[in-house]
Amino acid sequence: MRASVADQRIRSLRGPKPKTDPWSAHGTLLERERRPNGAVERAFTIFLAGSECPFTCSFCDLWRWTTDGATPRGALPTQIASSLRSLDGPPPDRVKLYNAGNFFDRRAVPIDDVPEIAGLCAPFSGVTVESHANTIGNVTVEFARQIAGRLEIAMGLETIHPIARAQLNKRLELSRFDGAARFLADNGIDLRVFVLLGAPYVPDDESVEWTVRTAQYAAARGASMVSLIPVRGGNGEMERLEALRQFTPPRLSQLEAALDRCVAAGFRATAFTADLWDVDRLTACRACRSTRIERLRLMNITGNPQPPASCGACDGA
Ligand code: SF4
Ligand SMILES: [Zn+2]
Repeated sequence: MRASVADQRIRSLRGPKPKTDPWSAHGTLLERERRPNGAVERAFTIFLAGSECPFTCSFCDLWRWTTDGATPRGALPTQIASSLRSLDGPPPDRVKLYNAGNFFDRRAVPIDDVPEIAGLCAPFSGVTVESHANTIGNVTVEFARQIAGRLEIAMGLETIHPIARAQLNKRLELSRFDGAARFLADNGIDLRVFVLLGAPYVPDDESVEWTVRTAQYAAARGASMVSLIPVRGGNGEMERLEALRQFTPPRLSQLEAALDRCVAAGFRATAFTADLWDVDRLTACRACRSTRIERLRLMNITGNPQPPASCGACDGA
């Protein structure tokens, strides 16, 4: 993919990239996660190190965990095998292979490694990999056939706000997203969707509204999982946009409001969750922050509305 002017600007604003070892995953996470049918799975995420994603979305900071050049042949199976060896006890229900990009990008995931990766996924009843909607196709179905469990694709829809969507530099048409979602459903592949809270160019006072609309858009197109992800600053471009008043870092109260509304909307075939991986970075009242985070955790795992936290020091702001 040729670098556009926007790609060049976004890349030029980045800080230095930490050195990444392509033979070692840069993290793992074992967590409990609710599925739309109410079952709570144990999910094991492996954060794989490999080639950088060819897209250059304005809000993305995943390039920090990528290598220069193509992922070497054999590196991903080595990372996965050694991450799986670190697990104690019975295998989790699901493995998520997150490679900071697109699983079906052959620079990131060499084609010759795919059978071995599929074999390593054999103990899991669910396997999740990430992909841009543009790279969904027959290769996705082929991978679904190679694994023993059921495949789930995690796609970023980010926002359906028309201006913000065009500014994300993601090169994602809604029709493309819709087509990919249909293709996955027709082939018995599950869909997990990432939705942004605080997308740049969405006015701050409309932020919750557009996150909810986007989450519902994904649910209406068959997403079984929708994760609300607060946009993080720190990649250079977000600081440029903040200075231009086109980006306001999202607040904990907005994440609560968005999840409350998604859960109340009654989409029974979709589990909505708030992404809490970086929740400590969100602005919030110091007196009730931990109570509110706990409330979100409870909503994530039960899918049920929870009574609002009350606080004498703030009004939930
Ligand atoms: S497609 Fe995903 S990984 Fe690639 S730049 Fe965009 S958000 Fe980041
Ligand atoms: Zn408070």
